[in-house]
Amino acid sequence: MTARIIEGRAVAAAMRTVLAARVAALPFQPGLAVVLVGDDPASSVYVRTKDRAAAAAGIAASTIRLPADTTEAALLAEVARLNADPAVDGILVQLPLPRGIRAAVVIDLIDPAKDVDGFNPQNAGLLAVGRPAMVPCTPLGVMKLLEAAGVVPAGQRALVLGRSTIVGRPLAALLMAADATVTVAHSRTHDLAAECRRADIVVAAIGRAEMVRGDWISPGATVIDVGINRLPDGRLVGDVAFAECAAVAGAITPVPGGVGPMTIACLLENTVTAALRRRGG
Ligand code: NDP
Repeated sequence: MTARIIEGRAVAAAMRTVLAARVAALPFQPGLAVVLVGDDPASSVYVRTKDRAAAAAGIAASTIRLPADTTEAALLAEVARLNADPAVDGILVQLPLPRGIRAAVVIDLIDPAKDVDGFNPQNAGLLAVGRPAMVPCTPLGVMKLLEAAGVVPAGQRALVLGRSTIVGRPLAALLMAADATVTVAHSRTHDLAAECRRADIVVAAIGRAEMVRGDWISPGATVIDVGINRLPDGRLVGDVAFAECAAVAGAITPVPGGVGPMTIACLLENTVTAALRRRGG
């Protein structure tokens, strides 16, 4: 079997076109503020990409760049300022933050109504109890990719590899809400391969280059690769050994061009959603 490739780039582009049309029809311009502390090269690239995508969708995007030696108190003051700014509908603080700044303290302060990353405990809690408000962008993107690929999670065995607060946990909640039978695996799981083989849907979000092998995949299963790993030779690969798994799976996402573009498209969608909700829409 050769898997169908789930083209995240195309799905995301279609989403962004629809969003741009929605934004153009609004009587106001949604605003997104992205805060970048320090000069981590990967974060700088992500922030530039988000900024460009927001502008292309008609969203007023501003990037606040703060030096690496910014104190936690100064960052909290910046977040408080953005919380109070009526022109800002969405606030995203790019992670990771420099040592000495507690990410949890910063995320706790973001107004849940402007928390377009969905990381604030109020939004995480609402998702956990099945009343999603602002859903984290990457897990939301994964669910939209499944939908675009015609994969219905209801009744299927889904394995989420990874339990981080930004991907694994919220994704498990979304899959459960979609009536999948969900298993969450992590670094202490015994026999990951066996867990994978039982799954109809495998989502890998572990940050380990090409760890999921072809013989871990049940024939015809759907494989979604969230991982982004840079190899020593400069190549970008996912957490899934793509060629091996594509030979067995029914459908699979590539890296790059799979989940990554969906994360950005969902960030834009969350910003528009936040803008409408803040205005009672
Ligand atoms: P974290 O490092 O926060 O979490 C990794 C998770 O994987 C943890 O739950 C960890 O287990 C588990 N894990 C690590 N090593 C193993 C192993 N050998 N076997 C089994 N489980 C393991 O990562 P993130 O969730 O933030 O990101 C995961 C990947 O997704 C990264 O490659 C990241 O770059 C990528 N990513 C991609 C995005 C996109 O837009 N495409 C967005 C966000 C992330 P434990 O909890 O036990 O430590």
